[in-house]
Amino acid sequence: MNPNYELCTDEVAYNFGFLDEYAKREVRRAILKAICIPGYQTPYASREMPMGRGFGTGGLQLTLSLIGPRETLKVIDQGADDSVNAVNLRQFIELTCPGVTTTENTRAATLIQSRHRIPEQELTEDQILVLQVPYPDPLVIVEPSERKRKVMHGEGDYSRLLTKLYEDIVRFDEITIAHRYPTRIASHYVIDPSPIPRFDVPKLHRSPTLILFGAGRERKIYAVPPYTEAVPLAFVDVPFRIESFIDEHGVRRPCARCGATGSYLDECFDAAGAKAYQCSDSDWCNEQLHSRTEGASS
Ligand SMILES: [Zn+2]
Repeated sequence: MNPNYELCTDEVAYNFGFLDEYAKREVRRAILKAICIPGYQTPYASREMPMGRGFGTGGLQLTLSLIGPRETLKVIDQGADDSVNAVNLRQFIELTCPGVTTTENTRAATLIQSRHRIPEQELTEDQILVLQVPYPDPLVIVEPSERKRKVMHGEGDYSRLLTKLYEDIVRFDEITIAHRYPTRIASHYVIDPSPIPRFDVPKLHRSPTLILFGAGRERKIYAVPPYTEAVPLAFVDVPFRIESFIDEHGVRRPCARCGATGSYLDECFDAAGAKAYQCSDSDWCNEQLHSRTEGASS
């Protein structure tokens, strides 16, 4: 090891949670406002973080403002605990928050920061889920002016967004949005639920967990508080539907590793180069595999 590196780590003293106390307080105030007005995009002074915007700086600032030394943290990226984004964020939090426990176990975590997935394991009232958001405003695809978008949100005017969905149906016979599906919160504001797949959108509805969304680059925080209605935009005759993972024989594909038939699947290739499907949530997959092998051995 480079001796200078040791010297550096000894000499550098971070404030707990990297951010200064004023910055954390401001984020907490924005969180409280976001909880009071479900789905409202609350502006905040997003701080510079020692990583590029777009790498989860919004979610990270939420996590660092909420975390305490007794917290148990889980960080996931696309369902996996060991992907590059998740590992880097976890290491950074471990470095700047001494005493915090980190885990891969969804049940054990009190605070979960995630990119693009909501865990398969049902979350509880004692947990907080933080989602990283690249683009917070669902209206951006129909209105470039933020000032006008604010008025549209305030008036609950989502007619142009609904027209966009209708155009999809005319052109492709269905709504083609795979991720970032616009979802109406508490019968008013429509949010971009971050790039979670459609499969995860129903998990927002009346969830016992507080779900927070942080967009660092766009400087916005919004929330779906516990037990709040979250309804994806759809039409009476064209209802919302999730990915079904039905194969050509009309059968639900199982996970190739654990055999689960109720989880969101990632497409991958097996050793022979053939297409295979595996749980995207690695902790869920391990748990199912473990309970299956235990059941077989007993
Ligand atoms: Zn699996």
